[in-house]
Amino acid sequence: MAVTDSEALAALHRVFGYETFRGEQEAVVDHVIAGGDAVVLMPTGGGKSLCYQIPSLVRPGTGVVVSPLIALMQDQVDALRALGVRAGFINSTLDFDERRTVEAEFLAGELDLLYLAPERLRLDSSLDLLSRGKISVFAIDEAHCVSQWGHDFRPDYLTLSVLGERWPDVPRIALTATATDATHREITERLGMPDARHFVASFDRPNIQYRIVPKADPRKQLLSFLREEHAGDAGIVYCLSRNSVEKTAEFLSRNGIEAVPYHAGLDAGTRQAHQARFLREEGLVVVATIAFGMGIDKPDVRFVAHLDLPKSVEGYYQETGRAGRDGLPSTAWMAYGLNDVIQQRKLIQSGEGDEAFRRRANQHLDAMLALCETVRCRRGQLLAYFGQEPSGENCGNCDTCLAPPETWDGTVAAQKVLSTVVRLQRERGQKFGAVQIVDILLGRRTAKVIQFDHDQLSVFGIGEELSEAQWRGVVRQLLAQGLLAVEGDYGTLVLTEASGSVLRREREVPLRKEPEKPATSRSGGGA
Ligand code: ADP
Ligand code: ZN
Repeated sequence: MAVTDSEALAALHRVFGYETFRGEQEAVVDHVIAGGDAVVLMPTGGGKSLCYQIPSLVRPGTGVVVSPLIALMQDQVDALRALGVRAGFINSTLDFDERRTVEAEFLAGELDLLYLAPERLRLDSSLDLLSRGKISVFAIDEAHCVSQWGHDFRPDYLTLSVLGERWPDVPRIALTATATDATHREITERLGMPDARHFVASFDRPNIQYRIVPKADPRKQLLSFLREEHAGDAGIVYCLSRNSVEKTAEFLSRNGIEAVPYHAGLDAGTRQAHQARFLREEGLVVVATIAFGMGIDKPDVRFVAHLDLPKSVEGYYQETGRAGRDGLPSTAWMAYGLNDVIQQRKLIQSGEGDEAFRRRANQHLDAMLALCETVRCRRGQLLAYFGQEPSGENCGNCDTCLAPPETWDGTVAAQKVLSTVVRLQRERGQKFGAVQIVDILLGRRTAKVIQFDHDQLSVFGIGEELSEAQWRGVVRQLLAQGLLAVEGDYGTLVLTEASGSVLRREREVPLRKEPEKPATSRSGGGA
């Protein structure tokens, strides 16, 4: 072991110019060099690449890296070549001659590292090629893509168990930044790695400040957040739709913040150009759908902002994790409101997939909503979700720690909302969305209220003690707590099984206090 130790360290110094290994890197590298399988869970920016690059350099043969990030292979390989590493890649972007050249280099034992797209391994010709060369280690990057329940499933990953079957003597290392226990187990099972050693780094990112503010006018809120706290900084703004990506990028540009859009509807050239500018320039903001960011290694991303709710805590963690890889203070900021909840539920109901799939998607969303609505430390909740212990009760670097939100007894307010839903349904056989319910509670004679005679209901005007924003906050929290549900394409509100206990006064409903008029940024964290 002493020999491999020093060889690994020598490679670290000589090739990469780094002094020491970080965290779990050394233990992983030693284990793989000695021929063991490994499952490595490390947060984004934790240094996963070296975990397979060093063993590939130290062990005889070529390290074969399976990665779904085709767009980045060229860059990764160029960067390695610049360090004197003999690296190559094979994916659909190569023409016949280019592929032949790489294959010949591999067969001649002239490659330290070979990057492959997962779909290659479905082809007999690729497997044949691999069996004619000498392989030092298989690295399976972004290994969570094998998880069918995950947010990034890639069917090609299911075929990767073939590697262990055909090359039982070649060590395998699976790496990911996604770390729920379920994903963890799925990786181990589906890749057929029962004997692998597991290396789990802490998922805490202490330099990232987590903040979630009530959504009022999201673009304006974003603008003041950027102006007040991140003027001139590079960052990523995530939006759900292509349309809102375009509009937000335009809005920021019009207001003096350099911003470019990125989504799958743009042609490849534009996408590439915007990504390249983001990596190269200082202080550029990319407004993007989640199509942007996987594998992007820009150390000085100072903020990640979400204008729409991510589908899962895993997604949120990965996206926010792109901030602050250099360890310097960074912000994960999100604006979140009632429409996010309704929209996401509708998407799940009208989306593809069977009942089991929908149930899982709703569970993912529930966990994300719980994180948004918590009155406790957000970091603590995030780490607990990944099965890790927070280091203390309060992190001191999230909005709920910095300005603890007040709670209030929302039992009566909840009863008013639920009674309105019940009356509409029982007395009129009608279902309506949140806007109508709130208008009824506030006693507003809108055209739609008059049209349906809703000013004749006994609940009409019984909620004048709260503002519209506050009622929307109540509805949102009831949805998040499962005391109310969304149905159908129009986002109508219906009762759940749990609603009855509130209507029968069998339980209390503590709610998070919402600002009457949500403040725009810094002051938005508290009451
Ligand atoms: P991940 O793939 O886990 O997101 P990377 O492998 O891209 O992370 O590493 C993140 C950054 O940290 C890179 O810029 C890398 O060069 C740097 N890095 C990794 N390991 C070390 C180390 N031992 N010493 C110094 N820098 C390191
Ligand atoms: Zn905290």
